[in-house]
Amino acid sequence: MPYQLPELGYDYDALEPAIDARTMMLHHGKHHQAYIHQLNMAIAPYKELQDRSIEDLLTHIHDAPEEIRAVIRNSGGGHANHELHRKTIGPPSEEKPTGILAEAIRQGFGTLESLQDQLTEAAIKVFGSGWAFLAIDPQTRKMEVMGLPNQDVVVLHGKSALLACDVWEHSYYLKYENRRPEYLKAFWDVVQWEAVSRRLESVLDQSLISAA
Ligand code: MN
Repeated sequence: MPYQLPELGYDYDALEPAIDARTMMLHHGKHHQAYIHQLNMAIAPYKELQDRSIEDLLTHIHDAPEEIRAVIRNSGGGHANHELHRKTIGPPSEEKPTGILAEAIRQGFGTLESLQDQLTEAAIKVFGSGWAFLAIDPQTRKMEVMGLPNQDVVVLHGKSALLACDVWEHSYYLKYENRRPEYLKAFWDVVQWEAVSRRLESVLDQSLISAA
């Protein structure tokens, strides 16, 4: 199969109490798996689409036959967003942004609290299902918060995602029921700023290469 469910990298209960083990198990083993399965089924007849990274498949969605573009957008987007989400959260810690990330946050938002408030606000405002992202424009190297519906991806808006907050009900309903703001408050406990920082460095390296 072209796309496979990535390892979580930590146990299902590792994000307790912010995110409960049962939610993590269903989110990874069922929801994320289902996006991958549906994507693999859709591209099965098209050999030329099968050896691409998910980001490449999404950014060149118009290379794909029209009848499978909706599946690529929804299930491919679902795979990409969940992979990013999984990589930028982890066991709760007191870790704060440092170095280049801390400086970029200062320039873009003033303070970490201001970034957190803006992203939380964007996440609360997502109507129905969707995501809130911390993203960066690789050209201007300006950071911004984006709220996107369903499984829309940042890369299709010309930006690079640094941090992904899932606000589909499946990511919080078992523990928090309808209390999305409570889930969003706990979300900050599991953000892995070191992983966000590495993503930022990689985007900045790429943008220097393409500017050269
Ligand atoms: Mn999800």
